[in-house]
Amino acid sequence: MEFKPANQIQDLQYFGEFGGVNPSISDSSTYTFLSAKTMFDTFEGNADGCYLYSRHSSPSNLYLGQALAAMEGTETANVTASGMGAITAVILELCKANDHVVCSRTIYGGTYAFLKNFTPGFGIGTSFVDITNLPAVEAAITPDTKIIYCESVSNPLLEVADIKALSSIAKKYNLKLIVDNTFSPLSISPYKLGADVIIHSLTKFINGSSDTVGGVVCGTQEFINQLRDVNSGACMLLGSTMDSFRSASILKNLRTLHIRMQQHSKNAQFLAERFELMRLKTVYPGLPSHPSHHIFKELMNAEYGYGGMLTLDTGSLEKANQLMELMQHRNLGYLAVSLGFYKTLFSAPGSSTSSEIPENEQKEMGLSDGLIRFSIGLDADIERTLMAMTECMKEIGIIKPA
Ligand code: PLP
Repeated sequence: MEFKPANQIQDLQYFGEFGGVNPSISDSSTYTFLSAKTMFDTFEGNADGCYLYSRHSSPSNLYLGQALAAMEGTETANVTASGMGAITAVILELCKANDHVVCSRTIYGGTYAFLKNFTPGFGIGTSFVDITNLPAVEAAITPDTKIIYCESVSNPLLEVADIKALSSIAKKYNLKLIVDNTFSPLSISPYKLGADVIIHSLTKFINGSSDTVGGVVCGTQEFINQLRDVNSGACMLLGSTMDSFRSASILKNLRTLHIRMQQHSKNAQFLAERFELMRLKTVYPGLPSHPSHHIFKELMNAEYGYGGMLTLDTGSLEKANQLMELMQHRNLGYLAVSLGFYKTLFSAPGSSTSSEIPENEQKEMGLSDGLIRFSIGLDADIERTLMAMTECMKEIGIIKPA
């Protein structure tokens, strides 16, 4: 039967301990045992259903993890205190000294900085490649390579990874394919396409209210157990644990994700099409002019659209800054990093979220100074938004008055 990620979330049943329709929030860092033997067994990982200490697991985190695993179609999941908490734990779990990573060169700036500047100190090397160039990906693999790492839709250039093809390469060389699916929740289901581990920054669309950071790792029971192992697991030992109150609130927001993603995608598709008609340099995976439009179309769960992210090249940083300031002044959104909020958010990645990437490398990958990254909001009247944005662009001279 066709995999329907939103149905998987909808069908979960949880009750609070007093019959509440939401599970009770576990407000404890530690848990009692009726016998010392059960405590020992829990330490050894042999006492299912028992809780030990909330850095290891807690009922609220397990509920959220279950819902996210259902969404991605994996056996289970482990939530973390941030997206970076998930990314760093997965990489350090799978790669040790002298190991090697093949990573997309267009990637969230924090992930890039971690692999470029931090992991070499632990003897882990990374080759950054154009992830859309499959022969280049394959050529970068060495006998020491352990993982291929990419984003399903990349931050900020919106390159689309051909997860099926990357999974075949990973299997051929016995590597793990790790996919950060933060930009395309529900639209793309990487596990079903052959990825081994799926990561999200919950901070973005999944939580959707820009009130917390959070992350998740979705994968097999074996891998998640390994991450949580008391003696050797990266999640357990690096300690990036989500607080129960936060996991309870993210779980509540997750239930409306399908409706929000449909609206984000509908609004972004509308603006992208209109911007392109106005001859603005627009990148959006839902436009047939996008170089990987056909791949997204082939991989996607069609009902959620091509996502809420688009980019617009204004030609210079000065123009980009002028436009963003004016749009904020006209209440069309916020000049802010991050994504997935009900308001449109915009920023110039070259000087913000991707500033970790050196200028020459930014140029090489096509990240220009004047590029604005938009996370399109849930606007009820997107035609009104388009009119107001067009007015701003005319005033700044990005488009000529008719
Ligand atoms: N992955 C992607 C694609 C992101 O855009 C971000 C943050 O911007 C992260 C991971 C990191 O997530 P967090 O900020 O929750 O640590």
